[in-house]
Amino acid sequence: MKIFCIGRNYIDHAKELNNPVPSEPLVFMKPPTALVVNNKPFYYPDFTQELHYEGELVLRICKNGRSVRPEFAHRYYDAVAFGIDFTARDLQQRLKQKGHPWEIAKAFDGSAPISVWIPLAELPNPRDICFQLKKNGAVVQEGCTRNLIFPFDTLIVHLSRYFTLQRGDMVFTGTPAGVGPVVIGDVLEGFIEGRQMLTCVIK
Ligand code: ZN
Repeated sequence: MKIFCIGRNYIDHAKELNNPVPSEPLVFMKPPTALVVNNKPFYYPDFTQELHYEGELVLRICKNGRSVRPEFAHRYYDAVAFGIDFTARDLQQRLKQKGHPWEIAKAFDGSAPISVWIPLAELPNPRDICFQLKKNGAVVQEGCTRNLIFPFDTLIVHLSRYFTLQRGDMVFTGTPAGVGPVVIGDVLEGFIEGRQMLTCVIK
């Protein structure tokens, strides 16, 4: 099982980190050991002093395929979940400055808490899904997929040029503006279309 992640897929988030808006999807991956399921707590790692949340919609791949054509891309995913792409921002900045790979800042154990799945068919409008992240009860991030730089179908086409998609793979589709730090004791809650999906306590 592969966990693809897309960086800088909302213009407002690329700007808040002073990153250029990309001309094609920026792809990285996390291993299956990054996943945290069933609302289990997240343990603040000892190798960072600046841990950031990034609330994201996650796509579930439902069909194997490679070099998928745009007109068939929508057949390759069938559900969404709420996920957090935890990022050790201090480590990531240091690695980026040197032009080094940033895996240890993004793909460490527990860096990807994820909710249960909602089938796309159960959503009011699968072409425009809105989601929210609350920290300690206050909304800190809000996004709608109509604002994606690279929509779901474009991501499927792009990823499948390089990687065989397999049933059960997931795609973290990028975070909107409002990323920020967490400290021990914080509670993060993820919502999709007003439905509470994920609770993540930082321990
Ligand atoms: Zn992210």
